[in-house]
Amino acid sequence: MAFAAPYPSSPTGPILKRHKRFTVLAFAALLLAGFVASSIISFLVARDELSERIATEALPLTSDNVYSEIQRDLLRSTLISSLMAHDTFLHDWIVGGETEPARMRRYLREIRGKYDATTAFFVSERSHRYYHPEGVLKTVSEADPADAWYFRVRAMNDPYEINIDQDTADRSRLTIFVNYRVTGYGGEFLGAIGIGLSVSRVAELIDTYQRRYGRRIYFVDREGQITLHGAAFEGSKRIQDRPGLAAYSTRILANPSAAFQFERADGVTTYINSRLVPALDWHLIVEQRQSAGDSPILSIMVVNVAVAIVLAMAVLLLGGFAIRGYQRRLETMATTDSLTGAANRQVFEMVFDQAAKAARRRGESVSLLALDIDAFKPLNDSYGHQGGDRVMQELVARVRRCIREADSVCRWGGDEFVVLLGGCRAADAAATAEKIRRAVADQPVRFGREQISATVSIGVAELAGGESLDDLMARADTALYAAKEAGRDTVTTV
Ligand code: GH3
Ligand code: MG
Repeated sequence: MAFAAPYPSSPTGPILKRHKRFTVLAFAALLLAGFVASSIISFLVARDELSERIATEALPLTSDNVYSEIQRDLLRSTLISSLMAHDTFLHDWIVGGETEPARMRRYLREIRGKYDATTAFFVSERSHRYYHPEGVLKTVSEADPADAWYFRVRAMNDPYEINIDQDTADRSRLTIFVNYRVTGYGGEFLGAIGIGLSVSRVAELIDTYQRRYGRRIYFVDREGQITLHGAAFEGSKRIQDRPGLAAYSTRILANPSAAFQFERADGVTTYINSRLVPALDWHLIVEQRQSAGDSPILSIMVVNVAVAIVLAMAVLLLGGFAIRGYQRRLETMATTDSLTGAANRQVFEMVFDQAAKAARRRGESVSLLALDIDAFKPLNDSYGHQGGDRVMQELVARVRRCIREADSVCRWGGDEFVVLLGGCRAADAAATAEKIRRAVADQPVRFGREQISATVSIGVAELAGGESLDDLMARADTALYAAKEAGRDTVTTV
């Protein structure tokens, strides 16, 4: 199949190849750029949306939840303290002169147990005694700073206050106290009563929320001191000293609520939501960190880009194959005779130039066979054009079987063919021509149910030094003419 593929020296080959590679690469690059750009845009949009959702929905929701749970506990404690302050037993017992302290002790113990409080207390204005579920704890005194709360409650106008303080019974324990004023029927101050809730309950709440949502929750007092936080809290206990947060500490402490975000140098964005819990006089802070790397949308983008690359590669491959296929067909069409598959004239001229140069370089000969089907016109008339076509196809096939792979066969036009035999002198060429002649004459060509007998006449010429293809062809033609003259089915050499 010497001419099925473009001849290597074909000057159009490399240009077509370069053009093809450029087209496929440009197409794939365009596609890849489109995919990657759309992935990045959707990533950026999704990231902004996520960031917006954290800031406007997620954090405020957590803050609301924690806040309302605390409010619920405080409200319940306030209600219990209010009931205690208005209890007839209490009033009767005070009016009765605080006799039998054990009764008060039992009462406080009962309240503490029933409502699951950390502590329950009553401080009498008359005796200044501090009653507790375990007995009389002490006598409050204005001189003792730890008792300042009592004198503050005594002086205030509101019926109660909520105060976070160390427990008088256990000073290591931070407790949220509801201090309720007890007043007589005439409005006179009789003492302060109430219950205490352990702050650890709130800490548990913080831990639950931290675990559930992966957010950091803590409280700061008016001075920016972190008063309460969950487990695994590291760093400074003052917001003014915390990196990133320091710049916003005034904003947090001066406003009942604030929301903002800041980005660290390593790309981690911290979202902050703060709100004041008036009952505690603390700011509740919810903090979430979001690094670009741990965001699920980033992995989606990575997958998108990977898919884009795979698709672009597929396009590159398929496009390459398709274009190569078309290119091959075009090249075949441009270089070969469609009926017989033999080379066409233009290609043959190039092949001849190459062969002539190579022969000259190596000091070898090149020979040419001019071959024409005998009485082809009558053959066409007898079997029709298709019968003639079939004979030509078979002729080329038989010629090919008689020559070497490196030799070429070309349809010169009509029923005339040219065979180029490289490295071959006239005598060897004549022998090959004779082989061809016999291969055609000895075996009729099958055409459907018919057998077509055909013969060829062949003129042989060996390339002389400095001779052109036209000159060589003219000499081979002369030989062919001589063969025809000699009665056809003959090989003649000039
Ligand atoms: P000669 O022995 O002198 O060569 O006689 P001839 O009849 O073969 O005469 P000539 O070579 O001049 O005739 C060539 C004929 O080949 C003329 C034309 O009808 C026929 N022909 C040319 N091209 C084709 C083709 O593609 N298919 C077929 N079937 N016939 C063709
Ligand atoms: Mg002929």
